[in-house]
Amino acid sequence: MKVPFFDYSKFYSHQRDMVLEIFDAVASKGAFIMQGELVEFESELAEFVNAKYALGVGNATDGLELILQSIGLSAGDEVICSTHTMVATASAIHLSGAIPVPVDIRPDGLIDPAAIESAITSRTVGIMPTHLNGRVCDMDKILGICEKHGLFLVEDAAQALGATLNGRAAGTFGVAGAISFYPAKILGCLGDGGAIISNDQNKYETLYQLRDHGRNKTGQITMWGRNSRLDNIQAAILLAQFEKYPSVISRRREIASLYNTLLEDCYPFVTPPPFDSDNGNFDIYQNFEVRVKNRDSLRKYLSDRGVGTLIQWGGQLVHQLPLLDRQYNCPVAEDYFQNCLMLPMNLTLDNEQIAYVCESIRRFYSDGAA
Ligand SMILES: *Cc1c(COP(=O)(O)O)cnc(C)c1O
Repeated sequence: MKVPFFDYSKFYSHQRDMVLEIFDAVASKGAFIMQGELVEFESELAEFVNAKYALGVGNATDGLELILQSIGLSAGDEVICSTHTMVATASAIHLSGAIPVPVDIRPDGLIDPAAIESAITSRTVGIMPTHLNGRVCDMDKILGICEKHGLFLVEDAAQALGATLNGRAAGTFGVAGAISFYPAKILGCLGDGGAIISNDQNKYETLYQLRDHGRNKTGQITMWGRNSRLDNIQAAILLAQFEKYPSVISRRREIASLYNTLLEDCYPFVTPPPFDSDNGNFDIYQNFEVRVKNRDSLRKYLSDRGVGTLIQWGGQLVHQLPLLDRQYNCPVAEDYFQNCLMLPMNLTLDNEQIAYVCESIRRFYSDGAA
């Protein structure tokens, strides 16, 4: 049996008919840029996360950069982010003229509010937490810190469309948040795509123009902008996929619970993250990241049995990037990255494949291969 980590062509083949139909309909209309499908998708998206505004952009990284640009940062400003995030979070801060300050995580992989507090200096202007793996950060504490120190909050919600904490969606806690539609994300398009969500009307109006050459809704140029729009064809495809999004999340949660059940008493697994263990946190399982004993040998063993796994960010944490000017201390994250591993988690998987992955893991540990 083969269980690729993410099967991009299967992902396409599952929706081929729908995609071809949409492509033909939208392309025949000549509706490529900033057309009705985009507007409709934006409105559905905003409604789904219960935000006032959503704005399609080229990708989530652009979304983060645009949000920071709309805030306006100065050289020397510091913005705190997690060290366990994609380089995009940090590069958006750097490219907006500020200094990314990566901080440590909690044992569940999410940014540690205590580490945020200790990283605050007189130069700190904002916090940019990542709702990692489809799970919302400890927002009560983080919002408290923002308020206490007068800092802005921008959320990297690239992995967390539909994740909620006490009913409030990732991306709606601060100034604005960015969501990614990269193909392997839960709502994935056929290429790059992203969105910004916000409840702030002024920010929305600015961002609307920044992503489209500084043009407002009547076409007047009122500021310097760039070109970062979500293609209308991509928006049309996302719109069609979005109808089934709640059932997609349910299936992911089912896969997660299947993994948990099938691996329950097989815990040479080092402390798997406390999936759904704290009240109020609705996890959508963008990734199923576990911590395991003898990770590298397990990975090889699984790979020999046709099971693909992945170490997030290629194993490199943000504070380990050679591009930073300063040294940062993140011992919890470094320990975490000795043994973390992502198991296959996506809608192309059937239950037999999940069972095969779990059986292979059990075999690895019981064979003494470990
Ligand atoms: C995927 C991802 C991004 C970047 O999203 P793009 O749409 O590819 O730009 C940023 N942050 C995190 C945490 C991600 O997982």
